[in-house]
Amino acid sequence: MGDVKGFLKHSRDKKDYKPVAERVGNFEEFTLDWPEQQYKDQAGRCMDCGIPFCHEGCPLGNKIPDFNDAVYRGEWKEAWTVLKSTNNFPEFTGRICPAPCEASCVLGLNNAAVNIEHIEKEIAETAFREGWEQPITPKEETGLKIAVIGSGPAGLAAAEESRKQGHAVTVFERDAEAGGLLRYGIPDFKLDKNVVARRVKLLEQSGIVFKTGFEVGKNITATELEAKFDAVILCTGSTVPRDLNIEGRELAGVHYAMDFLKHQNQLIGQELTEQVAHFNAKDKHVLVIGGGDTGADCVGTSNRHGAKSITQIELLDKPPTARDTSNPWPEWPMIMRTSTSHEEGANRDWAVLTKRFIGEAGKLTAVETVKIQWTDKSKFQFEEVPNTSEIIPCDLALLAIGFAHPEKKGLVEQFDLVLDPRGNIKASGYKTSKPNVFAAGDCRRGQSLVVWAIAEGRKAAVAVQRTFAEKAVTM
Ligand SMILES: Cc1cc2nc3c(=O)[nH]c(=O)nc-3n(C[C@H](O)[C@H](O)[C@H](O)COP(=O)(O)OP(=O)(O)OC[C@H]3O[C@@H](n4cnc5c(N)ncnc54)[C@H](O)[C@@H]3O)c2cc1C
Repeated sequence: MGDVKGFLKHSRDKKDYKPVAERVGNFEEFTLDWPEQQYKDQAGRCMDCGIPFCHEGCPLGNKIPDFNDAVYRGEWKEAWTVLKSTNNFPEFTGRICPAPCEASCVLGLNNAAVNIEHIEKEIAETAFREGWEQPITPKEETGLKIAVIGSGPAGLAAAEESRKQGHAVTVFERDAEAGGLLRYGIPDFKLDKNVVARRVKLLEQSGIVFKTGFEVGKNITATELEAKFDAVILCTGSTVPRDLNIEGRELAGVHYAMDFLKHQNQLIGQELTEQVAHFNAKDKHVLVIGGGDTGADCVGTSNRHGAKSITQIELLDKPPTARDTSNPWPEWPMIMRTSTSHEEGANRDWAVLTKRFIGEAGKLTAVETVKIQWTDKSKFQFEEVPNTSEIIPCDLALLAIGFAHPEKKGLVEQFDLVLDPRGNIKASGYKTSKPNVFAAGDCRRGQSLVVWAIAEGRKAAVAVQRTFAEKAVTM
């Protein structure tokens, strides 16, 4: 297994990036490749740990020690075959996964974890360069028809897995292009749109039909869909953003983060030719409300627009720099993270409550905030700290405080689906309350991660397959 002493010979190498001054001038990806030997050395750090907790850490169950061993030996095709056996789209996860596998790497107990994500990207890109990634050709056509609603990572994975079984698959997508948040949420500097388009093209060449600009619930009803298809897999995402209903919310200049990011992605994708002034951060004081990844994407995008200042605030306390004893390995570490977007420049603050938006003549000019002290986190209770009120100059406030649940109007109402207590589509074993209607991804588990969406899409396709098999037995 790899080099049993590899972790003693080599320390974990950081990813190499283009310099900040260069990369903020455009929206291009900026992570640099390593020379081949460096990937081999880093893969060789994956030791023969006996119980690879990374398998469990990865929602896809990626066989990480096996592909690391193959990379260490220079057997890139073998590495790709292993990786593809559990992950449909390693070119996405190799770029943007927060890598829960690395958080649970056994080496991480007393050393720096293996650099799994960066190796994964190189395996994926080698496969495209070498032509190993080819359209799927199912062994036989089953004649069964599957509709997948939504073309985010869950929908794409469900579509590919269903097509592998020989079913006729149609993906319905209301946006102009396929990809979901891979295309319209995540900025290009993290995931280039051509990488998404390259995958969608392969899926099309596999015989999957993409009907874009087509909203289920509007352009076709649920009843019509059920009549035309043998199974329907809902992968519609968690798209209702959390709002901040405080004084001044109606002022021009207060926007949802996702609207801001989508606009930029549409510009890059040339769906839009002109930048709308209110989504342009140039020369503006930007306040990003919400300390998560969506907020970080707003920071990176605002820096590229040329914002005058960028501040990101978060309601929760500043996380510790290292694991707390209550959060041991191999759990996901709840620690302070500084993303590449933060490295490009932003003021950050924690335990801050947004009190009101302040404006003149209907336009946002400032935001009032106050520091808070948490009294009972389990009950979401906090107190304002006296004399800590602050007025922050602000022309553009971006709400990046998460997503509540999937939309209910249209599709969910028409299918008359049962929802869980959080408002997501209830689908135990990926089966919804309607026969032959399945659900996967963020619309089922709530806003999550690309790696979870791919895992859910795969499992929903298996659930469909099982249902077909059960029907065949009873017929
Ligand atoms: C700004 C942002 C950045 C993120 N960055 C990361 C990251 O770096 N790494 C990571 O792992 N995760 C990230 N995430 C989370 C990740 O993108 C999501 O968890 C993932 O995309 C969910 O996949 P999905 O397929 O379930 O849904 P989505 O990607 O949301 O796709 C749902 C699709 O369904 C379509 N749809 C909805 N209703 C209908 C309808 N009625 N008819 C037809 N089509 C419909 C939508 O248009 C959309 O294309 C980010 C999320 C956001 C918002």
